[in-house]
Amino acid sequence: MTANETPATAWELAKAIVWAQRGKLALGLTLLLVDRAAGFVVPIAPKVLLDEVVGRGRAELLPWLAAAIVGAALVQALARFGLQRILGLSAELVVLGWRRRIMARVTRMPASHLDGTQSGALLSRIMDDAAAMQNLVGAELARWTSNVVTALAALVALLWIDWRTTLLALAFAALPGLGLDLAHRKLRPLFRERGELRAEVAGRLAQTLSGIRVVKAYAAERREQLVFTRGLHRLFRVMSRTTNRRGAMSAVAAVVSAGVMAIVLVMGGRAILAGEMSLGDFASYVAFALMFAAPLLDLPEIATRVTETLADLDRVRAVEAVSPEDDGDDARRPLGEVRGDVAFEDVWFEYREGTPVLRGVSFAARAGTTTAIVGASGAGKSTMFALLMAFYRPTRGRVTVDGRDLATVRLRDWRRRLAVVLQDDFLFDGTMAENIALSRPSAAREEIARAAEAAHCDEIVRASPDGLDTRIGERGLKLSGGQRQRVSIARAILADAPVLLFDEATSSLDSESEAAVRDAMTRLAASRTVFVIAHRLSTIRGADQILVLDRGALVESGTHDELLRRSGRYRALHDAQFGAAALARVAEAHVT
Ligand code: ADP
Repeated sequence: MTANETPATAWELAKAIVWAQRGKLALGLTLLLVDRAAGFVVPIAPKVLLDEVVGRGRAELLPWLAAAIVGAALVQALARFGLQRILGLSAELVVLGWRRRIMARVTRMPASHLDGTQSGALLSRIMDDAAAMQNLVGAELARWTSNVVTALAALVALLWIDWRTTLLALAFAALPGLGLDLAHRKLRPLFRERGELRAEVAGRLAQTLSGIRVVKAYAAERREQLVFTRGLHRLFRVMSRTTNRRGAMSAVAAVVSAGVMAIVLVMGGRAILAGEMSLGDFASYVAFALMFAAPLLDLPEIATRVTETLADLDRVRAVEAVSPEDDGDDARRPLGEVRGDVAFEDVWFEYREGTPVLRGVSFAARAGTTTAIVGASGAGKSTMFALLMAFYRPTRGRVTVDGRDLATVRLRDWRRRLAVVLQDDFLFDGTMAENIALSRPSAAREEIARAAEAAHCDEIVRASPDGLDTRIGERGLKLSGGQRQRVSIARAILADAPVLLFDEATSSLDSESEAAVRDAMTRLAASRTVFVIAHRLSTIRGADQILVLDRGALVESGTHDELLRRSGRYRALHDAQFGAAALARVAEAHVT
C-alpha cells in the first residue's frame, strides 16, 4: 500500500496491514502449529493409558508416556516463547509505525480541516486507534488462526472416532453460532460510537485543563466537572450496551458447550455399553472434544476484538482519507528565489458558504516595503494572514508572489520564505535556543545568540544562569507577553525570510518592552516585505502603505499622512485612539 492510497473499507485496511507482516505472521503460525501438534500428546495419552497400560497390562509403556508428556510440554514452551518474541515485538513496531504515520497525516491536514476538529480527538486517533493494529499483527491473530486449525484437526479426529455423535453435536452448536454473527453486526456501530465518544470526552477534558486558569477564575470547576460527568455517563451507556451483548454471547456459548458435552456423554456412554467403543477411545474423544470446543468458546471474544479493531481502523481510515494540504506539491514548479512582491487580486473568501469574510480585496505590496493592515476586530485581518500563509485558498481571485499565483506554488517552498510573529506566539517546552531555532534548526549557536540579541532577548538570557539553555514554556521559565513576543521575533530574525508577517500583540506591553519590540521589528523589517496587523496606530506611522479593512472590504489605503488628510475611516480610528489617550492624559493631569 502506498502512502497516498486510502483503502475503501476497514477490512481492506486490515488486510493490507496483515499482508505487510505476512512473513512474521507465517513464522508465528508455524510455531503455533508446532505448539498445537505437541498438544495432541495430551488427548492421546489417556487412550494409551486405558487401552494399552491398563487393558493389556503393558506397564513398560508408563515411563515413555511420562517422557512424551514432558517432552511435548517443553516443545510447547519453546514455541510459545519464540512466538511472543517474534510477533509481540513486531506488533509493537507496527503500532509505532502507524502512530508516526497518522501523526504525519494529521500535521499535514489542511488548516480548514484542523480548525473544525478537536485536538483531543486527533490525539486519540494517533495514540489509541493506532494501537488497534496490535490486534491484527500481534500474537492474537496467529493464536486465533492456529485455534481454528487445531479445531479442524480435532474435528477430523472426532469424526474418525465417532462420526454420528460428532455430527449431532455440531448440528446442535450451529444454530447459536449463526446468532453470534448477527449480534456482531449490531456491535460494530456501538464500538464506533464508543471510540468517537471517548475522543470527544478526552478532547473536552484537554480544553478544560489547558484553560484551567479561566475555569478557576470564573469558579467554573463544578460546571466543567458536570460536562465531563455527562460525557462519562454517555460513554457508560454505550459501554453497558456493548457489555450486555458481549455477556449474552458468552453465556450462550457456555450453555451450548454444556449441551454438546451432554450429547457426547450420553452417546458415548451408550456406545461403550453396547461394546462399540473402547474406554480409551471414549477418553480420547472427550479430550479431543475439549480441544475442539476451547477455540469455539473463544469465538465471542475474538469476534468482539475484530469488531472493535475494525471500528478503530475505520477512524484511522477517515484520517487517511483527508488529503494533505501539500498533496499537489510534487507536481508544482519549485519556487526558487523570492523577491517579495506580494499582491491580492480581487480576493474573495468565505469560511462558510454564503458568508464572505473578504470581499474583493485588491492591493500590491512591493518587495521590501511595509504594509500595515488596520480595522475593527472581525474585519478580516487574520483571515488575510491565513491566505498569505496559504492555510486557505481564496474562494475567488488570487494571491500572488512575484506574479505567481500562490495556489500553483509549492506550499513547502512558500512557507520556507515566510517568517511569522503571531499574537501570543507559541513557545514549545524546551530551551530558549531550541525555541528560537524552530525556524532554522540547522542554525549555528552564534547565529542563535545574535538573533536573540537583535530581538532584545538578551535580558532574559542574562537573567538566568543557563543563558540560552534556560528552559522556557510549559515546564520551564514563564515569560511575560512582551518576552514571548521577543522570542518569536528572534525566531523570525533567524528565519531570515524575504516575507514577514507580524501580528502585533493586542495586550499593551509596558513602554520599555514596547520600545524593545519596536526596535527589534525595525531591524527585522529592513529589506523585507512586511505585513503588520496593527492594533496601535502609533506603531505604523512609517508604513509604506496602510490598508483599512471594514467588514471584509478594503475601504481605504495610503500612507499615514495621506489617510489622515482624507478624513475618512482611518482618521476616525486615529482620532478615537488618540483622542481617548489625550483625554486620559488630561484627566490624569487634573487629578494630580
Ligand atoms: P480580525 O483578524 O480582523 O479580527 P478575522 O479574520 O479573525 O478578523 O475574522 C473575520 C471573520 O471571519 C469573523 O467574522 C470571524 O468570525 C470569521 N472567522 C475567522 N476564522 C474563522 C474560521 N476558522 N471559521 C469560520 N469563521 C471564521
